[in-house]
Amino acid sequence: MWGIIGTWAMVEEGILLGGRHLSENGSVMDAIEMAVKDVEKNEAYTSVGLGGLPNEAGQVELDAAFMDGKTLSVGAVAGIKDFLHPVSIARSLLDGVFNNFLIGPGAEKYAIENGFERYPMLTQKAKERWETHKLEVEGGLAPYIGHDTVCVVGIDSHKHMATCTSTSGLFYKKEGRVGDSPIPGSGYYVDESIGGAAATGLGEDIMKGCLSYEIVMKMKEMSPQAACEEAVKSFNDKLIERRGKAGDISVVAMNSEGEFGAATNIECFPFVVMTQTRGLMKFEVNQKGEIKSC
Ligand code: ASP
Repeated sequence: MWGIIGTWAMVEEGILLGGRHLSENGSVMDAIEMAVKDVEKNEAYTSVGLGGLPNEAGQVELDAAFMDGKTLSVGAVAGIKDFLHPVSIARSLLDGVFNNFLIGPGAEKYAIENGFERYPMLTQKAKERWETHKLEVEGGLAPYIGHDTVCVVGIDSHKHMATCTSTSGLFYKKEGRVGDSPIPGSGYYVDESIGGAAATGLGEDIMKGCLSYEIVMKMKEMSPQAACEEAVKSFNDKLIERRGKAGDISVVAMNSEGEFGAATNIECFPFVVMTQTRGLMKFEVNQKGEIKSC
C-alpha cells in the first residue's frame, strides 16, 4: 500500500510525479525527492527554491532536509545559497556517520565538491518582490510576511518510509536565520515502524514543540488525523497560554499503513495526497479539523 502526502497546493504536480513513481514500484526515497525537486525548480512557487523569498540582505538562503524512516538517517543543509536542489544535497548527506547537517559556506563547499553545480537562485521577480516588500517593512509593516515550506512524507510498496523538506524560510529573515524545516523532530520526522510527519509555518514556534516528533509518537496510539489535530491544538493552546500568541502551524502525517492526516491553526491549509487505493486528492483543512476536498 503506497502513499505520498505534501504541504500546500504548490506540491500537486510533485505529488503526482512521486505517486506515479510509487505506483511503478519505485522507491519512496526517489519519489519524495522527485516531488520536492519539482517545487524547487519552479519559479512560480515563491517560498521554495528558485526565486525563493530573499532575506534582509536580499539573498535567497535555503534550508532543506531528508530523513530515511528505515535507518533513521538524517541529511540536512541550512542557509545555502545558489543551488537549484537543496533537497538533493540534503539527501546526499544521509549516509555518513558524521557531517550529516551542514550550514552556509561549509554546505556550499561540500555541494561543489560533490558535483552539485551553482545556480543563481535570486530571480529578477524575487528581487523586485524584495524591493517592494522591503519598503513596506521599513514603512512599519511586520516583516516575515511570507513563508511556506514544501514537506513530503511517503511510503512505498515495500513499506519503506521517508520524508523531506525544502524552503527559503521567512521573507526578510536575518542572514543566517534557520527555521524548523531542516531540524529533525521539528520540521519533519519519520520512523517507518510508526509513520512520518512534517510541519510548515512559523519555524521559531514549531521548534518550541518538536511537533513532527510529537506527532509520530502520538501515531503509536492513534490515527494520523487524531495525532495531527491533538498535537497542533494542544501546542497552539500552550503557546497562547505561556506566550500570549502562537505563530502559524500546519502539519501533515502518514502512518505505516498509508493512512494520512493534516491539521492547522490557520484558516485554511491546503495539502495534497496520492495513495494506491484513492489516487490523487487535494484537500484543505481548517482550524476546527474540518477537511474538504478542493
Ligand atoms: N517553517 C518555515 C520556516 O520557519 C517556513 C514555513 O514553512 O512557512 O523557515
